[in-house]
Amino acid sequence: MKHYPPARIIHELACRSAPPGLPILPMAAFRDSHDIAHDCVTRATALNNRPVVAEPADYGPHVYSPSGERPADATRALCAVCHGTHTP
Ligand SMILES: [Zn+2]
Ligand SMILES: [Zn+2]
Repeated sequence: MKHYPPARIIHELACRSAPPGLPILPMAAFRDSHDIAHDCVTRATALNNRPVVAEPADYGPHVYSPSGERPADATRALCAVCHGTHTP
C-alpha cells in the first residue's frame, strides 16, 4: 500500500497559470497519476503526449476529508481537498 502525496496540478507549457522553472515531462508520465489536470490540459494533450509541467499545489491547512476515490494501492481514500492520503 502506498501513501499518495497531495496532487499536483498539470499544465500545458503555454498555460499562463503555470509557474516558471518547473521540470518538463511528457504527458504520458502522468497517465496513472492522481495529479489534477488544469483546464489547459485537453484530450489532445494526452493524445499527442505533449510536454507538460506539474505545479506543486498549496492546499493550505485542512483536515483529511475522505473522498469516494481510492486507488487500489492507496493506504486509504484520497482526500477530497488535496487528493492525497495524508499521513496515517
Ligand atoms: Zn494550466
Ligand atoms: Zn487533504
